[in-house]
Amino acid sequence: MKDSKITKKKSSKIDATKKLAEKIKQQALKNQQSTTTTTTTASTSSTTITPIEVNPDEELKFKSFSELKLVPELLESIQSMKFTKPTPIQSEAIPHALEGHDIIGLAQTGSGKTAAFAIPILQALWEAQSPYFALVLAPTRELAFQIKETFDALGSTMGLRSVCIVGGMDMMDQARDLMRKPHVIVATPGRIMDHLETTKGFKLKDLKYLVMDEADRLLDMDFGPALDRILKVIPTKRTTYLFSATMTNKIEKLQRASLHNPVRVAVSSKYQTADNLVQSMMLVHDGYKNTILIHLLSEYEGKLIIVFTRTVAHAQRTALLCRILGFNAVPLHGQLSQAQRLGSLNKFKSRSANILIATDVAARGLDIPSVDVVINYDIPTDSKAYIHRVGRTARAGRSGKSISLITQYDLEMYLRIESVLGKKLPKEDMPPKEVLDALHPNVDRATAEAIRQTKELHEKRGKRRNRDDADREER
Ligand code: AMP
Repeated sequence: MKDSKITKKKSSKIDATKKLAEKIKQQALKNQQSTTTTTTTASTSSTTITPIEVNPDEELKFKSFSELKLVPELLESIQSMKFTKPTPIQSEAIPHALEGHDIIGLAQTGSGKTAAFAIPILQALWEAQSPYFALVLAPTRELAFQIKETFDALGSTMGLRSVCIVGGMDMMDQARDLMRKPHVIVATPGRIMDHLETTKGFKLKDLKYLVMDEADRLLDMDFGPALDRILKVIPTKRTTYLFSATMTNKIEKLQRASLHNPVRVAVSSKYQTADNLVQSMMLVHDGYKNTILIHLLSEYEGKLIIVFTRTVAHAQRTALLCRILGFNAVPLHGQLSQAQRLGSLNKFKSRSANILIATDVAARGLDIPSVDVVINYDIPTDSKAYIHRVGRTARAGRSGKSISLITQYDLEMYLRIESVLGKKLPKEDMPPKEVLDALHPNVDRATAEAIRQTKELHEKRGKRRNRDDADREER
């Protein structure tokens, strides 16, 4: 009896062990299967990237746009925009894009990259004539408006409907514009995502083209979550163009995730400033910065000048200082309303104000072709921003000048910029001492006044905000 009990116990133990072994085997098989599937998926979705390095001095792939088989309407607007020959990025990217390839374009703004992606899209749109055909994502509102302008100019002869959907503008107006079934939507990621989630009847399920312009910046600026959500609601079968000034790890990830056999076109090396740009620096004492700035502005009287500052407060105060002293200056920074930002930009573009005092919101992407001088009132805190700032001048073959004011506090950062540029910038001559001495007291007084006015403005804004809050609470 006792023996049989022991045997039973033993056999149930063996059963349990067998069961466990079977379970482990099944689990192992399952794991193996799933690894095989992942490997297979990875290998089917892995893309071959054809890299092309474009040397701007090399011969262009095509010499005139008429060599491409573009529809006559598109050719007509290219001609009326006076694009006689392609830029290097256009020469390499457009033929591949017309063949239907995805494109990774490594090129700075000013290289003609907007037309490089707009021309193939418009050519395809001519044949398809379908709404919600292309979505172009840009990191800043100004850049988005500028891209829309290029599309409108190139599509003017073919009845193109385009919209610009960015933050800071009325959602209802935008929803109405989207309901008009535009062909091309240029947008900042957050706002277009809002519409995809809340605007009834607006879907991008038939989208054919996605462009991510300044993709490095899009990813830098924490647009990641919005981008991911957009990528989920648009078709995976589409053409994608990814343009970026720099190739970062994040871009590499992005290109693997969503591109199909792309051609990578890189124009010139990462950090380069245009040859026709004359750059210089001035070593100035911090207390004399405003005086030197005012001196430079009068030296370059009548020229189109962008003055870059590091902070909103500096931009606001310096714009006021310039105006107090009779200069025609407008501010551009992130704390202005969208209407004010566009207002400043339009005044500058139309030359009704010849000085734009801006933070880095204006450093990238903005194409104001006739800027003559860039002054770095504050030097930027990273060298990439320097390249972008000075890239606002000397565009599309024109010449330009940049001057950076370097104080005793900026030396370390300045040396870093020099090492990225791979050259020393020549020192600008200081104005004669008697000129500075005569100017300085007036500038000092005007600076004090500008500070007082800035404070007043802040207080007013603060009061208004408090009142608005109180209103909201009452309601
Ligand atoms: P982007 O890099 O797109 O900001 O363009 C910079 C500037 O170059 C814009 O003012 C364009 O109008 C101009 N541009 C673009 N393509 C050409 C071309 N093929 N010929 C002359 N100018 C061009």
